[in-house]
Amino acid sequence: MKAPDSAAPDSAAPGSASVLDGKAVADAIAERVAERVKAFSLAPRLVFVRVGEDPASASYVRSKQRLARRVGIRAETLVLPEETDQATLMTQVQAVVDDDDVDGVLVQLPLPDHLDEAPVLEAVDPDKDVDGFHAVNVGRLWSGLPGMVPCTPLGLEAICDHYEVPLHGQRVVIVGRSNLVGKPAAALLLRRHATVTLAHSRTRDLAAVVAEADVVIAAVGRAGIVQASMVKPGATVLDVGMSRVDGRIVGDVAPDVWNVAGAVTPMPGGTGPVTVAMVVQNTVTAAERRRQQP
Ligand code: NAP
Repeated sequence: MKAPDSAAPDSAAPGSASVLDGKAVADAIAERVAERVKAFSLAPRLVFVRVGEDPASASYVRSKQRLARRVGIRAETLVLPEETDQATLMTQVQAVVDDDDVDGVLVQLPLPDHLDEAPVLEAVDPDKDVDGFHAVNVGRLWSGLPGMVPCTPLGLEAICDHYEVPLHGQRVVIVGRSNLVGKPAAALLLRRHATVTLAHSRTRDLAAVVAEADVVIAAVGRAGIVQASMVKPGATVLDVGMSRVDGRIVGDVAPDVWNVAGAVTPMPGGTGPVTVAMVVQNTVTAAERRRQQP
């Protein structure tokens, strides 16, 4: 494994583990994407659709749009009022999808409770589906076909590649089996020849399962669910889960894990920025495929 930054940032607990710096990985990806954007005579165009004023959703979309514009993508956000009904949302999404000048569409989740997410996600053209949530892309991913892959799992793979964390033949335990993170991460890492275990809320003896892992991915959203006592010494730990404790964002990985693991992603500053970078990477990939750019 390539030597990562050796000192834990202030946001992480002190310990012997190296920092897998998501910001550095995201910057490297953004630089490569910006080069690819330069090859287009007309820059790729990405449209976000956001419903309502949930502050977290608004902030996520703002940071994705900011990075998209930084790398030269034409990015804009269609904001619909909280009270938008299903039919209106479907019509609006369809209009964006049908616009030939649009290369990527991202409907920010979660939608307000009165709206059904599934038909909205299925309305997105799979080839413009930069979130990779369309059932066609799920099938492509599990079948090993080219398609759009969800951004958080792609980001996890990118962090491992950036820091040369071995995956081939390694035991990877993913805690969390959602369609957004756990399941697509499993499919992606299987492609890389990892031996993958998906753990979830009904897993018996989670500690014993996690203890087997060379690479632990924690994607639950429960502060400190992965404890030092569960982690094999020297393991790589990727922290995806986010919760707010006393107004601070914390991950699924307990601070004492830094004393046992070989390398850990901090929270914040770990997996989150790389997820954002993958939105812009997926947009350029979608545009290249649609326009058959080199
Ligand atoms: P989700 O749909 O709520 O899934 C959570 C998963 O955790 C489920 O599979 C659930 O198991 C499992 N789980 C719950 N309690 C558990 C327990 N006690 N032991 C073991 N597994 C347990 O959430 P998500 O959308 O995947 O997101 C997970 C977290 O990642 C959230 O905090 C989210 O905010 C964060 N996130 C971060 C990024 C990033 O870029 N860093 C991106 C996306 C999401 P069951 O299936 O059995 O219910």
